[in-house]
Amino acid sequence: MRIAIVGAGLSGLTAAIALEKSGYDPVIYEATSEVGGRVKTDIVEGYQLDHGFQVLLDAYPKALEYFDYESLELQRLLPGAQIFTGKKTVTVGDPTRHFPFLLPTLEAGVAGVRDIYLLWTLHRELERMTVEEVFQIPEMTTAEFLSQRGFSEKIRRNFFNPFFSGIFLEPDLNTSCRMFSFVFKMFGKGYAVIPKKGMSALPTQLLGKLKKTEIHYNSPVKRVEEEKIILADGAEFAFDAVLIATDARGLVPDEGGNEIQWHGCDTLYFEAEKRSIQKPLIGLVANPDALVNNIFFPTSIQTGSSGPKELLSVTVVKDHDLSESELVARVEEELKGICGLGGLRFLKRYHIRKALPKVNLSGTDLSGVEKKTGNNIFLAGDHLFYGSSNAALYGGEQAAHAIVRYLGNRP
Ligand SMILES: Cc1cc2nc3c(=O)[nH]c(=O)nc-3n(C[C@H](O)[C@H](O)[C@H](O)COP(=O)(O)OP(=O)(O)OC[C@H]3O[C@@H](n4cnc5c(N)ncnc54)[C@H](O)[C@@H]3O)c2cc1C
Repeated sequence: MRIAIVGAGLSGLTAAIALEKSGYDPVIYEATSEVGGRVKTDIVEGYQLDHGFQVLLDAYPKALEYFDYESLELQRLLPGAQIFTGKKTVTVGDPTRHFPFLLPTLEAGVAGVRDIYLLWTLHRELERMTVEEVFQIPEMTTAEFLSQRGFSEKIRRNFFNPFFSGIFLEPDLNTSCRMFSFVFKMFGKGYAVIPKKGMSALPTQLLGKLKKTEIHYNSPVKRVEEEKIILADGAEFAFDAVLIATDARGLVPDEGGNEIQWHGCDTLYFEAEKRSIQKPLIGLVANPDALVNNIFFPTSIQTGSSGPKELLSVTVVKDHDLSESELVARVEEELKGICGLGGLRFLKRYHIRKALPKVNLSGTDLSGVEKKTGNNIFLAGDHLFYGSSNAALYGGEQAAHAIVRYLGNRP
């Protein structure tokens, strides 16, 4: 039985692992020269640069199943943030997770006592729910949800807005409250972590688990038909089942559907003389006029490779039409004015147009429903569920199980 997988992102690799476990030897066709898809890391002048600021939440159920955390040497970020309002800089944290954050958080004037109580009750409610139940709660935007739960304007403006804008990669918190609740639940259960060798250590580890899978790099697939795939160079190969672990539109004639909408971002890296945030804390810019949303010093955690000075990552989630030099100048101006950070040297910009899929979660079904098009063409990828690496792993695994069922039932 021959099984082809299109795409070696997290979902394609997870599918291959699950298929190998069931005794199959899949063949992966990957358009680029490496695995990882949206999860990649470059080394530039010794510095470790992830393609966009990303973290893994170590409580993700599928990450717990598929990754060996110890050998990833996961570096924890503290469950808090340094907030820059332009007028003052304060450190806050979730006191329900890390009690010493209580006093500074109250003193910072970013949240009231009632907000802390509401955080705690939300945390307890979500703790009791399964992930499947979280994705069934009444649908509304995150902004509506937070206001309906009674959180003050102060905590929404100073914390929720910049923090979750950085996670959803959109400034208005229009993302589903189901996604918010899932992420909040995961933050409540564990930590945001980054592997010591950067985010690309995740797909690299999955790749290392593959023993029988054949991978063809630089092999973009042009079309997928029942029982065969056609590469961009015209080569054709026959298969009993195909898994498309990326956007299938354009590859399968029937897979018209609505065009996938994406949230994008810019992540800019700078070399800095010193860190303005000593601990591994994310920095949030709580100024609605600013372009910069969040900053992080990757050198505040251990990294596999390091440059001579400090490394700063800066993420912009708002739309803009600035050229790269205009963007760098504007970001440097804001970092100086709002975060008090000067003397930076620009290293590299990642402009990621397709970072997170905008998914309508009102019809989310996480009950193992098969995603397929045609008889033997199966689908995976975070865009079919929700924008998160957990969804990519989940989708890859589910698709592999569906293929095993399909092949097992064939006469
Ligand atoms: C900036 C940014 C920040 C993020 N932050 C987080 C975060 O903090 N936490 C979190 O959980 N998730 C985050 N994510 C999301 C996470 O990275 C994705 O959910 C996950 O990587 C998606 O994996 P995938 O396999 O579904 O898709 P992809 O990674 O897109 O993989 C698809 C693969 O298919 C290949 N391919 C495409 N077309 C073809 C073709 N025709 N032929 C052959 N191969 C093809 C591509 O080259 C790619 O390798 C972030 C993503 C970005 C970009």
